[in-house]
Amino acid sequence: MVNYPRLNIDLKKIKENTEKIIEICSKKNIAVMGVTKGFCCDEKVVKAMKEGGVKMFADSRLVNIEKVQNLKEIKVMIRLPMKSHINELVKFSDMSLNSEIETIREINRVSYLQNKIHDIILMVELGDLREGIEPVDLFNIVKEVLILKNVKLKGIGTNLTCYGGVIPDSKNLGLLCKLAEEIEEEFGIKLDIISGGNSSSLHLIEKNEIPNRINNLRIGEGILLGKETAYGEYIKDLHMDIFSIEAEIVEIKNKNSIPIGNIGMDAFGNKPKFKGSKRRDRAILAIGRQDIDPDGLFPIDEEIVILGASSDHLIIDITDSEKKYNIGSIVRFNLNYSALLRSATSPYVYKNYFDM
Ligand SMILES: *Cc1c(COP(=O)(O)O)cnc(C)c1O
Repeated sequence: MVNYPRLNIDLKKIKENTEKIIEICSKKNIAVMGVTKGFCCDEKVVKAMKEGGVKMFADSRLVNIEKVQNLKEIKVMIRLPMKSHINELVKFSDMSLNSEIETIREINRVSYLQNKIHDIILMVELGDLREGIEPVDLFNIVKEVLILKNVKLKGIGTNLTCYGGVIPDSKNLGLLCKLAEEIEEEFGIKLDIISGGNSSSLHLIEKNEIPNRINNLRIGEGILLGKETAYGEYIKDLHMDIFSIEAEIVEIKNKNSIPIGNIGMDAFGNKPKFKGSKRRDRAILAIGRQDIDPDGLFPIDEEIVILGASSDHLIIDITDSEKKYNIGSIVRFNLNYSALLRSATSPYVYKNYFDM
């Protein structure tokens, strides 16, 4: 039996994109942390990234990191750790991104009990306003971290283009490098890692504008979707079609395009608006918001229009398509990162790997 909905994953292309990204970054002596959250740290995908040359894996969830315990590669927790999860953090990961001294002290305490040294990267706030220590407070925190015996200050890093949409440039990343050098000077230490962000920093390499001291990037989307995320542009020579999702049609009917009756709220509390007044051929697919983000789906048949989705149904308009769709026909979509995240996470979506 073939299972739908299903997420198609091309492992060979994952390996090739990984190789290419590593090649681009290595020209600037930048090491790549392969970010695995986009596919729930799925072991087959991780293996493909590993074959592509990734030496450090990074994920935002400890349960994901736990899944790849057998790997000898370095495992990095990239969401600020919860103070209540430090046992698992120290047990399952080698390094974490941090911004709170209280949490770091707890990491130190637990690392001592587990007889380990845990590596810390201090996150610096450079304008995007998600996580990070403001530059004025950085030295004090560094001073406190350096007192602790069971954590090692491995480096500093930043995260941009996540909340505020701030694009990495030579100015904000230049400041990160300057702060790194000031810390090294002030405390007489060497920082091994200066982590200059995520896939949105890739465009700086291409333009030859990445500051010299940046020697690490944390890359998910660039590998998975072949995209840099600052301007949303595709990266030359990378595959952009590694993932696709397929769902099955369970109803096709010619209906009004405007609902009949008084309009209240939809299933998610929004008041829907409708355009047009003709009757249209509409199909319902057996896939919904539990499995995908409807705004992140792009039908391969470009004449299809996505009308909306509820928890378990995706409604599409097939009137203008030249293809003949029937009950049981399969419709295929490309996905963006948001739809990929959700489909990878949904236990209702069958994962179909191929390696061609
Ligand atoms: C998700 C994430 C990344 C990877 O971002 P991409 O855009 O997928 O490259 C890097 N760093 C942190 C802290 C993240 O949360």
